[in-house]
Amino acid sequence: GCGICVHKCPFNAITIVNLPEQLEEDCVHRYGINSFVLYRLPVVKEGMVVGVLGPNGTGKTTAVKILSGQLLPNLCSDNDSWDAVIKAFRGNELQNYFEKLKNREIKPVVKPQYVDLIPKAVKGKVRDLLKKADESGKFEEIVKELELENVLDRDIEQLSGGELQRVAIAAALLRDAHFYFFDEPSSYLDIRQRLRIAKTIRKLAESGKNVLTVEHDLAILDYISDIIHIVYGKPGVYGVFSHPKGTRNGINEFLEGYLHDENIRFRPFEIRFTKRSERKSQEGEILVQYPKLVKDYGTFRLEAEGGELYVGEVVGVVGPNGIGKTTFVKMLAGVEKPTEGEVNWSLTVSYKPQYIKTDYEGTVYDLLSKIDAGKLMSNFYKSELLNPLGIPDLYDRQVNELSGGELQRVAITACLLRDADIYLLDEPSAHLDVEQRLAVSKAIRSLMAKNEKTALIVEHDVMMVDYLSDRLIVFEGEPGRHGRALPPMGMREGMNRFLSGVGITFRRDPDTGRPRANKEGSVKDREQKEIGEYYYV
Ligand code: ADP
Ligand code: ADP
Ligand code: MG
Repeated sequence: GCGICVHKCPFNAITIVNLPEQLEEDCVHRYGINSFVLYRLPVVKEGMVVGVLGPNGTGKTTAVKILSGQLLPNLCSDNDSWDAVIKAFRGNELQNYFEKLKNREIKPVVKPQYVDLIPKAVKGKVRDLLKKADESGKFEEIVKELELENVLDRDIEQLSGGELQRVAIAAALLRDAHFYFFDEPSSYLDIRQRLRIAKTIRKLAESGKNVLTVEHDLAILDYISDIIHIVYGKPGVYGVFSHPKGTRNGINEFLEGYLHDENIRFRPFEIRFTKRSERKSQEGEILVQYPKLVKDYGTFRLEAEGGELYVGEVVGVVGPNGIGKTTFVKMLAGVEKPTEGEVNWSLTVSYKPQYIKTDYEGTVYDLLSKIDAGKLMSNFYKSELLNPLGIPDLYDRQVNELSGGELQRVAITACLLRDADIYLLDEPSAHLDVEQRLAVSKAIRSLMAKNEKTALIVEHDVMMVDYLSDRLIVFEGEPGRHGRALPPMGMREGMNRFLSGVGITFRRDPDTGRPRANKEGSVKDREQKEIGEYYYV
């Protein structure tokens, strides 16, 4: 077999994976000759949330499709019956599961990964959709918990990404099923909404249901899961489900790049989070002092305090959905005109919008070379941006055929290739896996520092905000009604301001330095709230 496989990892390093010898026996599904192969499956456990953590393209959604009965696994041969699947899993915890699935004794429900596709398939009002899904009689309760009261009478096609996500999660929760699969439930949600859905999903498991969730926001995965599986392999080629692991250890093993039980190193280096020293406010060269800006839409009013931006810094922009972050960024980008105040600087801006349009006809290479063909050839851009984001592998692909995560990486690259003084990126982590999020963060930091430019990044993933930002602009107010942007402030002050508004505290994992959300009401949570330190203790 394949004793040692060498392949590229997202950071463009070489990863050596010693594939276990017995893996061929554990082959679950092969899409076709020279197509993706999936080895092993996750366990499903009553009363537990099983989390799944792994790169894009390693078969997580494929596993969800198999376990929910949407895809009959071919066992990497010509199998076409569930009986053979049951036989193949004899002695495994899944044997019984597949038997029941075949006999239709259990009902699985799936919250699909791409909620953006829902409006194409389902028409009508939110209320009607959810009423139809309500087999459990929990309509009122779920609508309240997911804060959907205000969108019940809206058409599905009018919903924002975050609203669509919560409607899709609600529709799954309302079903009366045995197994619930949530494929990437946090996309488009803000941190408070992420924790809310995490709590609701946990409650479902605590009521005795089986839950499996794929999640790339590590803080949320950590918070939601009882146990986790790591998926490793080569994206698009093969993926292997690890043994189940305790959540904290599993996430740490993932960051370490090494599976202890299996004795497999799947990444040649460890991912560590280090606390950076705070930027001293008078240090460095000021790029610009921007004025107070107001935008009044009638139904929504944003007041953004003025502030200064420094050369070479990355400023995180945080706050709930619907509070005016995108509106603020659009005013700085010159896309939206302020009602009061004026952005009359001579600075050039490069802007990546939150929702990326895909009507471009041509390849990725066409698109990027039109922006700056020279930079595509430069060793600096290759090593700092293009290779870490895996862009050269996408050069020949048609832009309008890219997956969500691929398109996101191309859009980020396009934004960062342009010559500008200020780079504005609205929610760059959407659809990206953990390693891609870190690769993007690293690329942004290093390009700003080395090119002496400035970036503003709107972001909900706390790990990414922490990894990326020198300072923070915090938004406060009442979502959908009025918002206020504070001037940029230091990380500690900013995180405290932001997290106290959400009512959640974080600590650092002692081994990896990653941020971990404290359980509400735990000793740590109470202690930190008492001293007003919501972060970095
Ligand atoms: P993940 O959820 O981990 O991102 P998926 O299970 O969606 O991964 O996909 C794993 C791999 O299988 C990808 O490379 C994808 O292109 C491939 N794949 C998915 N569906 C099919 C299909 N119907 N036919 C061929 N290849 C597929
Ligand atoms: P965020 O980026 O923080 O989620 P946005 O800036 O996108 O928030 O939106 C803030 C509020 O302004 C929302 O209630 C949104 O519906 C409203 N809004 C955004 N654009 C417009 C517009 N062009 N006309 C009217 N209201 C708008
Ligand atoms: Mg997937």
